[in-house]
Amino acid sequence: GNLCERSVGDSLCDSSGGGSGIGRAVCQRLAQEGASVAVVDLSIDSANDTLRRLARDAPGQDHVALAADVSRSESVRALMEQIQSRFLAPPRVAVNSAGITRDEFLLRLSEEAFDSVLNVNLKGTFLITQAVAQSIVTSGQDGGSIINMGSIVGKVGNLGQGNYAASKAGVEGLTKTAAKELAKFGICCNTILPGFIATPMTEKVPQKVLDKFAGMIPLGRLGRPEDVADVCAFLATEDSKYITGASIEVTG
Ligand code: NAD
Repeated sequence: GNLCERSVGDSLCDSSGGGSGIGRAVCQRLAQEGASVAVVDLSIDSANDTLRRLARDAPGQDHVALAADVSRSESVRALMEQIQSRFLAPPRVAVNSAGITRDEFLLRLSEEAFDSVLNVNLKGTFLITQAVAQSIVTSGQDGGSIINMGSIVGKVGNLGQGNYAASKAGVEGLTKTAAKELAKFGICCNTILPGFIATPMTEKVPQKVLDKFAGMIPLGRLGRPEDVADVCAFLATEDSKYITGASIEVTG
């Protein structure tokens, strides 16, 4: 079928970075909507932790936890083989939420910190987007939704985050290109640009700074992972069938 016939129920979703924060909330939300979820994370313990929550909250579906390093093509290849042999079908929805930060001011930013952030955030998103699209196209059954995590930082920059901002701006450009190339297969590709979302990624930020950020947000609070998961649920269903190549800010 095509995207118009797509719904989350009965479909297989693959969420990278699903072991924590936003990715975990996405897995929980899509499972709630009826999807079978492949929880993918570098840390199998974190992925299993998410899996236990899915088994508790959405027990009727066939979920699985899988370890993969999204920044390595051989790991992504092995991941796709595992998903294919387990579910005998390609994922219909893929959410790229795996991401890291290595903050340093530009004058001191090392080549290694630049490369490692670009490798996970941008190359990892490329590898999964390509692999999922290839698996849908080879299956001969068009239709799907690829949802990539950018960041508002990719649009406006942020002190100490030159590497991160570059990676997230790259994710937007990649996603817009994927949207144009994959439309003929019924695959929609969109970027979510979260603002400040309280997750393990941001838990090192001092309370004083958090309060200051919250005070600058018109809706008066920091974001929650569920705020982003709600938008993923929208982008995963036919309610968003005429949206592709979009960047949706979720910043309060
Ligand atoms: P998080 O640190 O809580 O979760 C990220 C997950 O990605 C972790 O479970 C980690 O193990 C996994 N991961 C890291 N490297 C990996 C790799 N190479 N392969 C597979 N998995 C890997 O972070 P989060 O706050 O949930 O962020 C999720 C996404 O949202 C990231 O892409 C992040 O850049 C983006 N984002 C977050 C915020 C925020 O304020 N939290 C804002 C904007 C964008």
